[in-house]
Amino acid sequence: MNQSSSHPSPLKFIVQMSSPYRRYAISAIFLVTVASTLNRSLNYLIKLIIDAAQNTVAGSLTIYTPLSFILLYGVAIVINSLLWRGTGFTGQKWITSTEALAYRRLFKDLNRHSINFFQSRFAGSLSNKITNVTNGIHSILSQFLWQLYELVISITGTLFLLSLANVYLMLFFLLWLTGFLAAGYFQVKRLSKLSYKLAHSSSLLRGKVVDSISNVDSVQLLAGWKREQRYIGKYIELYRRRRLKQWNTLEWNLVFNGAAIDLWITGSILIGFYLLIQGAITTGDLVMVIGLTTGIYLDLFFLAVHVNEVIGHYNGVKEGLEEIYKPVDIKDSKGATSLRVKTGEIEYDDIYFSYPNGAEVFSGLNLRIAPGERVGLVGPSGVGKSTLIKLLLRLYQPQAGQIKIDGQNIAEVTLTSLRENIAVVSQDISLFHRTLLENIKCARPDANRDDVIRAAKLARADDFIKNLSLKYATVVGERGVKLSGGERQRIAIARAILRDAPIVILDEATSSLDSASEELIQEALNLLCKDRTVISIAHRLSTLRTMDRLVYLEDGRIIEEGSHRELLNKNGRYARLWNIQAGAFG
Ligand code: ADP
Repeated sequence: MNQSSSHPSPLKFIVQMSSPYRRYAISAIFLVTVASTLNRSLNYLIKLIIDAAQNTVAGSLTIYTPLSFILLYGVAIVINSLLWRGTGFTGQKWITSTEALAYRRLFKDLNRHSINFFQSRFAGSLSNKITNVTNGIHSILSQFLWQLYELVISITGTLFLLSLANVYLMLFFLLWLTGFLAAGYFQVKRLSKLSYKLAHSSSLLRGKVVDSISNVDSVQLLAGWKREQRYIGKYIELYRRRRLKQWNTLEWNLVFNGAAIDLWITGSILIGFYLLIQGAITTGDLVMVIGLTTGIYLDLFFLAVHVNEVIGHYNGVKEGLEEIYKPVDIKDSKGATSLRVKTGEIEYDDIYFSYPNGAEVFSGLNLRIAPGERVGLVGPSGVGKSTLIKLLLRLYQPQAGQIKIDGQNIAEVTLTSLRENIAVVSQDISLFHRTLLENIKCARPDANRDDVIRAAKLARADDFIKNLSLKYATVVGERGVKLSGGERQRIAIARAILRDAPIVILDEATSSLDSASEELIQEALNLLCKDRTVISIAHRLSTLRTMDRLVYLEDGRIIEEGSHRELLNKNGRYARLWNIQAGAFG
């Protein structure tokens, strides 16, 4: 596995995604700074009120000093509330926009990967990775703004005000804080390790559940419920154990933090009281000390929890980015040009290919398909017919050799232009959980409704679509609308007709149809294939009879080629296969 991935660091990625919204970020950070400073100042105002109240003599003008401080306090708390709401209004704009931009970017970049990347990963696990990153960004930014950054300002304010009261109080806090943060560092280090493991087992579990659910057919048909329960049960147990361990560690940390903070608060009050009776501070100062220490209690108590959460999300973001930004194995080469197809000539030139972790499929294969020629690939299953097509579509890349279309090496043209020039009607067409109209239109997004219906008519799909109550607006896969294999294949043909590409690939295009439907569709396929270069694979050899040339493959090599007639006359491998099939039907 390639470990030398070039994924961006989480921090860099978050900054990048934030950058278009920095105006909101700066405003939010500024407002938190002011609001948090004002919060601490309220403690100072209380001190002023108490000290002034003590100096008040009933019935004299001295009463106006504490009164004015009380008034100021009232105004300050209103302004403070407004400031905090200001942080909410600006912060939410920053965070939601950043999250959405990250989502769009990740989804876009995920799609750059080859089919091999997706086939070796669970779809559920990949979508989890994306949501882990985006949810992670949301949480990291929220925690940063309203917890961690806010705490830094609170601590700075507290240190400043304590130093105003008495430098020993400030030094005591500073000393204590150093020890508290040092302990916190080790707590977080341990917790983050546990969180990383937890996140891993969580996505593993989800992937396994999605895999099991999406293979429900096999589970039910093979009566494998019990086995599945045991299999998934192992991953649930692993997840539970890791969650418990992480939580347990967290609880012990809280026990420690609580005790440490209680000690600090009691110590500060004791020192304050001593300083008071020494006449070094006023009663107002002592009340301020109590206010400051208890005011910051919860923030410090949960500091390790918050930092751990941030680290947990950071790890989630990191893991997601590592996965999504794995090196892309098939991508546009530097200076890739747009494929221009004039005649549709295809040339496989000395192709060597094996699947990743698989056996060799081709070693030195050569095949030339003339412009407008219709070639049928035949041979026993597993000889590499589909692979030949996958290589043409650049879903995989040969280890050596070149594939050329009209003389242009497909490795040097853009993937988009390559695939735009090839229409595929395949055996297992995948349909989006969207309307039939959208499902056909995706072959050519600029097509209008009439184009779609015309294509569907030519593909003989219009007949069954017309009979659905919602017609083209029917959502595929929704309850009650289960398309048969033949119907799905007609959708695939409609897509290919709409795509109108110069090269057509038919991969078991009529395999799900009965003979009657096949005849109907053959007409549509003939129309689709007219004046285009065609490569067709079909298990049922009768489908390929009318091809210009049949290429018989075995062991990744071409053994025989010629028209159906020629190959029958040759009485070789193809003829044998044909006779077996004819015998089976006869
Ligand atoms: P055909 O279309 O002639 O039935 P394929 O081209 O599908 O044959 O397969 C050729 C060989 O490659 C087979 O041995 C098959 O098991 C193997 N193969 C196909 N797809 C993959 C894959 N994604 N990973 C590894 N091996 C594969």
